[in-house]
Amino acid sequence: MAFRIYCGALVTDGQRYPHRALVVDKGRIVAWEAYDPAQVGRIEPPDVDARNLIALPGIIDLHVHGGFGRDMMEGTPDAIRAIAQRLAQHGVTGFLVTPLTAPWSAIRQCLEAAGETRWNGSGGARMLGCHMEGPFINPKRAGAQPPEHIRPPSVRELKTELGTLINELRVVTLAPELEGAREVVEFLTQEGVIVSLGHSDATYEQTVQAIEWGARHATHTFNAMRPFQHRDPGLAGAVMLHDELTAEIIWDNVHTHAATAQLLIKAKGATRVICVSDGATGVGMPDGYTFELWGHRAVVRDGAARMVETGGLAGSVVAMDACLRHCAQTLGLEVASLVCAANPARALGYETDLGTLRAGACADVILWNPHTQKVEYTYIDGVLHESQPLSAGVSEPATK
Ligand SMILES: [Zn+2]
Repeated sequence: MAFRIYCGALVTDGQRYPHRALVVDKGRIVAWEAYDPAQVGRIEPPDVDARNLIALPGIIDLHVHGGFGRDMMEGTPDAIRAIAQRLAQHGVTGFLVTPLTAPWSAIRQCLEAAGETRWNGSGGARMLGCHMEGPFINPKRAGAQPPEHIRPPSVRELKTELGTLINELRVVTLAPELEGAREVVEFLTQEGVIVSLGHSDATYEQTVQAIEWGARHATHTFNAMRPFQHRDPGLAGAVMLHDELTAEIIWDNVHTHAATAQLLIKAKGATRVICVSDGATGVGMPDGYTFELWGHRAVVRDGAARMVETGGLAGSVVAMDACLRHCAQTLGLEVASLVCAANPARALGYETDLGTLRAGACADVILWNPHTQKVEYTYIDGVLHESQPLSAGVSEPATK
């Protein structure tokens, strides 16, 4: 049955539209209707009174390893579903399972588990495929990736070890300066996989070459990559300059300073930057919580997760709603919604279905409270994500 969500405003595709009702039918947004707030009285179910909230397209996270005490590398559909449900509470409606550098057998198990939860079998946010981070990365820029499992790039090894599981890959992070990287970049590009440059010490020149081979994306820009210096612009400089690359940024205000994130958006424009969480097991966990990144211990403290051995960051401890908030506080919700929803959806080729509230799109909608700066409700396929509590001031949303 069709229903309307009466919103204080809609923010989508970089624009804000006050006093709109979203008409939702069979899991899709079918229309918007402008309403006059003075003319609308009590709103009865199944319609939804969200007149004090702002509707945004659901957030898409292209880089998430786990969270809430669970790890994608558990390699089970149960782990992925548990994470997907918690992500939905934070306004995430689609994500890429992100295996890290590990033995091939563990990566295989993770990809297989992901395949079993594809698109909407997760019970929460949509599993949209996998972002394999490594193992073809530079040990010099390993960050929190376990260095003992780093491998030299090889198409032969990739084919032997993954076989048909290559079909689960949407993004692969690799270092283009390593011997054998060209062949891997060209092979993955031909297979329709997005090659993302990261955990890399590539120079500016090496990065330009990798773009010619087909690379189109950069992994958590500035983190674990050769930095920008004025005589040696490096991978980071090439990312800022070259439009061919879309650029991830972890806007948790820990991995990057807010001014750095703004600089990247200013350099590349608001349509070429993609916020990612890089969330790991420590997301949402209290101070003192310890977990392992493939055998290496990390601990959550003061809003960050750090490796016990090296003190390096062990992924973020925030979900994407925090990144959306940080961006919105600095650049406004219009830009925040582009970098957290529209841009990642477009990078994966889903721009008509996801990351937008235009008529025809999937009804993946989040209702944002502008006062608390939090996601109040998440709809996926037009269905309210069940585990969210109802808050005062909003009448009960429809669940069908
Ligand atoms: Zn990562």
